[in-house]
Amino acid sequence: MTTAKVNLLDYDRQGLRDLFAQLGEKPYRAEQVMKWIYHRHATDFAAMTDVGKVLRDKLDAACEIVPPKVLFEKQAADATYKWLLGMDAGNAIDAVFIPESTRGTLCVSSQVGCGLACTFCSTGTQGFNRNLSAAEIIGQVFVAGKHLGNVPHQQRKLTNVVMMGMGEPLLNFDNVVRAMSVMRDDLGFGLANKRVTLSTAGLVPMIDKLGEVSDVSLAVSLHAPNDDLRTELVPLNKKYPIAELLGACQRYVARRPRTSITFEYTMLKGINDLPEHARQLIKLMRQLPSKVNLIPFNTFTGTRYERSDEDVIRSFQTILLDAGVLTMVRRTRGDDIDAACGQLKGQVLDRTRRQADFRRRLEEGAQHAA
Ligand code: SAH
Repeated sequence: MTTAKVNLLDYDRQGLRDLFAQLGEKPYRAEQVMKWIYHRHATDFAAMTDVGKVLRDKLDAACEIVPPKVLFEKQAADATYKWLLGMDAGNAIDAVFIPESTRGTLCVSSQVGCGLACTFCSTGTQGFNRNLSAAEIIGQVFVAGKHLGNVPHQQRKLTNVVMMGMGEPLLNFDNVVRAMSVMRDDLGFGLANKRVTLSTAGLVPMIDKLGEVSDVSLAVSLHAPNDDLRTELVPLNKKYPIAELLGACQRYVARRPRTSITFEYTMLKGINDLPEHARQLIKLMRQLPSKVNLIPFNTFTGTRYERSDEDVIRSFQTILLDAGVLTMVRRTRGDDIDAACGQLKGQVLDRTRRQADFRRRLEEGAQHAA
């Protein structure tokens, strides 16, 4: 029986160094190979011309470089680009590239589906199937970088990565942290810490744990300024209510001067968009260095919500701005190809496991962080 090859996309720099040491090779060789992968998009060891033939053959026998398979790719009218990437067993996830004049942002998924069941999110209504491996997470950046002809430090097309695709990244902690390490490594995609953003629905213990190992930017899906409403929209709030969540956010920003937390707030008509909600939100935002990102709700089949009217969003923003709360309205991108926030649905099979798996992971996550 042949043993399975290891996928080098599953390792960060230290992991690759250790792997090469196990193969009896010098660790710096691992760094050479890493650069071939992420700077030159090589998937074939034969192409790595400055790596000796003996080592190339050895690597070929034991290792492979396998990014996710592109099942489908599509460009929106506004040049937003979406990939549907095949996982296993008929599942697929989405990755989305959002080009702007001064930056290019890739929105990356962390799980097949999501178990948190936020009521206004398409991914949340589909259920959870499984966590992505580190290779499947960094592989999304690899696929996009190759398509765009991105060369870290030289020809930068990819300037920012946001963990805002399908799934809850903090429930797939180790793989997400490892993939983010490759995003920020000079031999990987070479992005600055602040240009990698992790967005979470608010897993309090895991935010603290993230603070111990990483300095990435943190975005928090708030969506409501009081516990009753937030629990209705983001069921996780029952376990980690707003006061506890803000406590974790305060601890996260306290580690580094001049950083802030971005709070995402999806504007739902008649639900969370009243002036009273804006006033409640101001009180919360005064408790820590923060920014608010208002996201016009993006619709999807079967939802009971509607997008707030534009003038309502503007006056909500004005109330916050007048109180000194830095507030932006996120421009909707790629909605004609279902690539906008909350519209990603990939292909998620096996919904039946959702509740059981979600509870188990939540417990594991909490224990892990304890
Ligand atoms: N699970 C993580 C990552 C998802 S990020 C999190 O909750 O933060 C995607 C962002 O888009 C989140 O803020 C999410 O709440 C928001 N969102 C979800 N559905 C949406 C929709 N239909 N319209 C607009 N924003 C939505």
